[in-house]
Amino acid sequence: MLKKIQAIRGMNDLLPEAAPVWQYLEATVAAVLQRYGYREIRFPILEQTELFKRSIGEVTDIVEKEMYTFDDRNGKSLTLRPEGTASCVRACEEHGLLYNQVQRLWYGGPMFRYEKPQKGRLRQFHQIGVEAFGMAGPDIDAELLFITARLWRELGIEQALTLELNSLATPAARAVYRDALVDYLRARKSRLDADSQRRLETNPLRILDSKDSDTQALLDEAPRLAEFLDDESRRHFEQLQALLDAAGIAYRINHRIVRGLDYYSKTVFEWVTDALGAQGTVCAGGRYDGLVEQLGGRATAGVGFAMGLERLVLLLQALQRVPPHVDQQVDAYLVAADGVQGAAVELGERLRSELPYLRLLSHCGGGGFKNQLKKADKSGAAVALILGEDEVAGGRVTLKYLRESKPQQTLTVAEAIDRLQD
Ligand code: ATP
Ligand code: MG
Repeated sequence: MLKKIQAIRGMNDLLPEAAPVWQYLEATVAAVLQRYGYREIRFPILEQTELFKRSIGEVTDIVEKEMYTFDDRNGKSLTLRPEGTASCVRACEEHGLLYNQVQRLWYGGPMFRYEKPQKGRLRQFHQIGVEAFGMAGPDIDAELLFITARLWRELGIEQALTLELNSLATPAARAVYRDALVDYLRARKSRLDADSQRRLETNPLRILDSKDSDTQALLDEAPRLAEFLDDESRRHFEQLQALLDAAGIAYRINHRIVRGLDYYSKTVFEWVTDALGAQGTVCAGGRYDGLVEQLGGRATAGVGFAMGLERLVLLLQALQRVPPHVDQQVDAYLVAADGVQGAAVELGERLRSELPYLRLLSHCGGGGFKNQLKKADKSGAAVALILGEDEVAGGRVTLKYLRESKPQQTLTVAEAIDRLQD
């Protein structure tokens, strides 16, 4: 026997049993976004490597060690998108959607990062991302948070999620803070973990994100970015908090949130849960007013977030918040005697025309009633529609309830349609 070829580590197949909860999640997100006037944009999963280097930043985990980068046949360096913001900006710029305009956009699909696969952390994972362009004030930051808060409510997972907020200030103010942080840490360099020692020279703010406990202890006493906020950033941050207070959305200020990407300024946030173990951030984002310019466009305000769908699915399951109807994919199963297949086809198609929401499986492959009913039961259908010679002769169909102890009934097709309506 030939050796079977397997999927790439960290890249999952989504099997039919698992698909309904994904469809439910994606449809719920899309519906909420639509209610806020956000429009979908789609762009390729492959981009020029330079796009991500220039936007996410050379000295970030993503660009340093997580990108799937390869040369194409012409020796051009391409990268599977590790996130969507850079591609979204690229696409919008390329098609003139940004200059002097306001855009509220969303996208979804696979992202790729070469990480150590584990629960909630994959190499191909899926995000829905939202980006708003051309609006510089805190009201749009707040709107994005209202959207997420509403979504958690609709999904029934709001109790398990906490909003953490921070402000990264403007690049100028952040530069002043960076110097203060470096002064403080350089004097204590030997107590930093190896990664953080290296980052001290390359990207010191990322040290705030270190998971190392000694480094964390050192940071407790370090200067805080909050003390270095410029007036504009402080006002922006205060106004955002006032809007969240007015809407009754609870949050916690977390001075350690720096995010793994270099393009953020002012607002950054994460929605976190402790119901999933170490991979607790299900949604993260922030403001990136410098990014469009950094990618060659005119200065344009931008703010956005991305949610990790794998983690949200895990959370829905952990909290048992998948609605029962989601897992039930078949309503009715049509069983027919040998010799009345023509009538069965006719009935099946008529039902599908008159009851567009009915999910009807027609038995194929023949066999006796007993065998067919077994299949009907296995399909998860609530009801079997049975068509024998008597039924066909009388223009009727028998309904056999598979999940309730109701007696079976032989009805005219019109009556059956009525019954199946609810
Ligand atoms: P983390 O700190 O968990 O590595 P991140 O800061 O790298 O997350 P972002 O780039 O902000 O994550 O992506 C937004 C969201 O996408 C995350 O909050 C998470 O839900 C999800 N996500 C990121 N990386 C992965 C991954 N490798 N597998 C599954 N989901 C992921
Ligand atoms: Mg990461």
